[in-house]
Amino acid sequence: MSGAISDLSARAILDSRGNPTVEVDCYVDGQLQGRAAVPSGASTGSYEAIELRDGGDLWVGKGVTSAVANVNGEIRDALIGMDVTDQESIDAVLISLDGTENKARLGANAMLGVSMACLRAASPRALWEHIAGDGQSSIPVPQMNILNGGAHAASNVDIQEFMVVPHGFNSFSDALRAGVEIYHSLKSVLKEEGLLGGIGDEGGFAPNLPRNEDGLRLVLSAISGAGYTPGEQVSIALDCAAQEFCHDDGYHIDGGVLSGSELGQLYSSWLDNYPIVSLEDAFGEDDWGAWSEFTTREGHRVQVVGDDLYVTNPTRLSKGIAEGASNAILIKLNQIGTVSETMRVIEMARSAGFSTIISHRSGETADHMISDLAVGTNAGQIKTGAPARSDRTAKYNQLIRISEQCDNYASLF
Ligand code: PGA
Ligand code: ZN
Repeated sequence: MSGAISDLSARAILDSRGNPTVEVDCYVDGQLQGRAAVPSGASTGSYEAIELRDGGDLWVGKGVTSAVANVNGEIRDALIGMDVTDQESIDAVLISLDGTENKARLGANAMLGVSMACLRAASPRALWEHIAGDGQSSIPVPQMNILNGGAHAASNVDIQEFMVVPHGFNSFSDALRAGVEIYHSLKSVLKEEGLLGGIGDEGGFAPNLPRNEDGLRLVLSAISGAGYTPGEQVSIALDCAAQEFCHDDGYHIDGGVLSGSELGQLYSSWLDNYPIVSLEDAFGEDDWGAWSEFTTREGHRVQVVGDDLYVTNPTRLSKGIAEGASNAILIKLNQIGTVSETMRVIEMARSAGFSTIISHRSGETADHMISDLAVGTNAGQIKTGAPARSDRTAKYNQLIRISEQCDNYASLF
């Protein structure tokens, strides 16, 4: 299919945290062909592309009136008439129109909404097939965040995400079912220990815990309690989001202050004692030395993932590749702000032998493009929260639909 963009129209909708976000409609030859909504982070990296917010009193400062106006004005004027299938050119026009290094003028939220809506509008078939083209595709192994801490919870837990990874299954549906059963098993475990309270932003439980390591113990007992073999069928992944507890004097964790090396030793002891297969943002976004030291020592037995470290940015990723800072990258469309740039970073990571994990944000909508993106790019892994709350299950449910056509469940090892 080809066709000219005949209109673009944006509005503010609400995200899963009750904040406004940008939704864009893309019309091709007079027909509405693509709609997309933009997610939003809480533990954002400081090198991310800029999300334009209005500030002021309305919407607690989080309005997106100016981002919406940028789509309905300047961006619409620049893109009308362009071939909707030429994603590279569309994104190039967006980037040059913005004219800044970090998309601060038009807003990465305005630009990404348009970029995603065009991608959807350009697809005459299932989006994952369109993205895959002639390439391979697979259903990604999920990292399911069942215990929330850090900036996503009101608890005392420093580690942001305790996730289960159901990798030891032949099909996505068996893997997903295991993750769901473990989620419910964790609820029982927490109830028994008198720790069941609210949930965090990504749908996982959010208890107060004596020490961060208790999160590992609880998740491990949830895996066993649901009847699965830890390490063989289901393992654990952590997103430490360490930038959030990284201060001038070191890392503030479990009531103490640790250097990067000492924190790395703490993680190593966890690797010795728990079936952890993936460790994300183990160190701060500027602590390159600690990253390299840890990856050199532990990279053979754990996936070391850069999120805030790389912010889906090619310049930061190439530094990480050169320094051996990690062996994997988290991919978030809104960290960089266009579809084409995201695709290039995935390609760059893959060429360097890095694993790729397509990710949601803590603030989400019902948009499930990341599921199609993960399948269509053959990324291998997806991170999209607990198997609960519609903003998270939208992604899992889309993978269920896709798996009716694509039965190739990715393997982690
Ligand atoms: P964020 O959290 O969307 O709040 O940044 C997700 C993550 O850190 O991976
Ligand atoms: Zn992260």
